[in-house]
Amino acid sequence: MSAICIRSLLLIVLMVHSGIAQQGNEKTLSTRVSQKRLLSSVRELVAIGPRMGGTPSGDKSVRYLVQRLKTLGLSVEVVEEPAKLMFINHAWSLRVDQPRGLRNLIKREWLGGFSPSVPPSRSQLELWPLPEDVPDDSIRGKAFLLETPISSKAYLRLVEHGATCLLLGSPYLDGAYSDWAYITDLMPSERNAIPLFNLSFNNALTLKKTLEEGVPVVMSFSSKVTIAPGAPRTIVATLKGASDKYYIVCAHGDSDSGGPGADDNASGVAGVLELAHVLNGMVRSGHLPKPAFTLKFIIWGSEIYSTEHYVRTHQETLENILGVLNYDEIGTGVSRNCIYFESNDVEHNEKLLRTLEGVGEEFVGKKGFWDEATTNPSQGGTDSYVFLPHWLARLDLPEVEIPSVTVFTGAWNELKTLPQTEGWSSKAWQGHPDSVVVDYSAYYHSSLDIPSRTTEKEPFNMVWAVKAVGIALLRLAW
Ligand SMILES: [Zn+2]
Repeated sequence: MSAICIRSLLLIVLMVHSGIAQQGNEKTLSTRVSQKRLLSSVRELVAIGPRMGGTPSGDKSVRYLVQRLKTLGLSVEVVEEPAKLMFINHAWSLRVDQPRGLRNLIKREWLGGFSPSVPPSRSQLELWPLPEDVPDDSIRGKAFLLETPISSKAYLRLVEHGATCLLLGSPYLDGAYSDWAYITDLMPSERNAIPLFNLSFNNALTLKKTLEEGVPVVMSFSSKVTIAPGAPRTIVATLKGASDKYYIVCAHGDSDSGGPGADDNASGVAGVLELAHVLNGMVRSGHLPKPAFTLKFIIWGSEIYSTEHYVRTHQETLENILGVLNYDEIGTGVSRNCIYFESNDVEHNEKLLRTLEGVGEEFVGKKGFWDEATTNPSQGGTDSYVFLPHWLARLDLPEVEIPSVTVFTGAWNELKTLPQTEGWSSKAWQGHPDSVVVDYSAYYHSSLDIPSRTTEKEPFNMVWAVKAVGIALLRLAW
C-alpha cells in the first residue's frame, strides 16, 4: 500500500469517526432537551407579569433569568439601555352596570396600553361605528363602543368634548378573539386623558346588539397605571469558544403586547434558556469540547429597541457575528405541526438556512421531531431583522452581511400563504412546493396568550425549536 493510499484510508477513518461522534452529540443533545423544564420556564415567566422592558415586572424577569443562567455557570452581563416611555398596568376594572342581565359579561377583556389612571366612574355607553361622526354636543360624559381602532385625531376630539372612556371590539379572525381580547394600545404618551378597554369579539357584539335594540347600557370602570420613563435591561450570557467570532441565540424577553405573552414570547425565552442549559451542560460534562466559536445567549429587554441598541453599541465589531438565531413564538400553532426558519429571500442567509433546512429534512417524522419543516421568506417585525443590512443602513451603521434568521412555529393571528423563494422548497414540507402556509396563533397578542391555551396545549413545539437550533449549532460552531 502506498503512502498516499494509507493517508486516504486514515482520512476516511477519521471522517467516519467524526461523523459518528457528531451523530452521538446530536443524539445526546436531543435526549437532554427537557419539555418539562421548558414548560415550567414559561409558567414562571408568565407568573411574573407582562415583563415589559423598564417596568418592575421586566426587571423581575431579568433577575429570574440572570439567576437561571448563572446557575448554569455561564458568564452573564446585564446591559441597561436608555430609558423610554413605559406603561405599567397596576389594576383596572370594567363592568356592565345596566342592563343587569349583562353584569357578568366582562371576563377576558384587557386595558389598552398607555391608558391613563381614572377613578371609579360610571358612564352611559354609545354606539358610533365611526367616532368622527359623533356630533360635538353628544359626547360629554359618554363612553363609546368602537368597531375599529381610533385615530389620534378622533381620540383627541372625543377627549376635548368630554368623553369618558373607549371600548374597542376585537376583530373576528377564523375563531381568534371570539371570547378573549386582542390587545391594542393608545399612542405612547403621558397625556392620554381617557382609557381604552379591549373587548372580545362576542362581548362587543352583545353590547352592540343591546344598544341597537334601544336598551340603555351603563358601564362602570376604573384604572390605575404608571406611565413614566424606564430603562429596559438586556441579558447576555456567554459560552466562550476558541474564537471570539460568535453566534447569537436570542429572543425578546418582553411580552410586547403588554398581555401575558406565554407564546409571544416566554416560549422563545424558555427556548434560549433550554439551549444554554443543554449545550453548556454538554461542555461542562465533557461530552463536548469547548466550541470553535463563541455562543452568546441574549434575552432582549424590549423587542427591536434593545436589539437596535446592541447593534449601535457593537458597530465596530459587527463582522464578528457569524449568525443570529432568533426565537419568536415557538410555543403553538393552529393548523400544522411545522417548524419555520425565516428569511430565505436574504442571500447571505444561505449557509445558515441550508444547515437548518438540512436538519429539518434529516429529522422530519422521526420520534421526538417535527412533522414538517421549511424555510420561508421574510415577514418582518422581529429582532432578527435588526441585524440585516437594510436595517443597519437605516441606523447609519456599516451594512455588514450578518446571517440572521428567526425560528418559529406560528406567527400572527391568521393563516398566511406566501410564495416560496425559488430554490427553497424543502423535502420536509408537505404543502405545495411553490408556497409556504405560515401557521398562526389564535391567541396572538391577546388576553389569553397564557400557558394553558398555547404552550401546554402543544408542548412539543418548544422542544422541536430547541433541538433544531441545537443540532444546527453543533454543525456550525464545533
Ligand atoms: Zn414576538
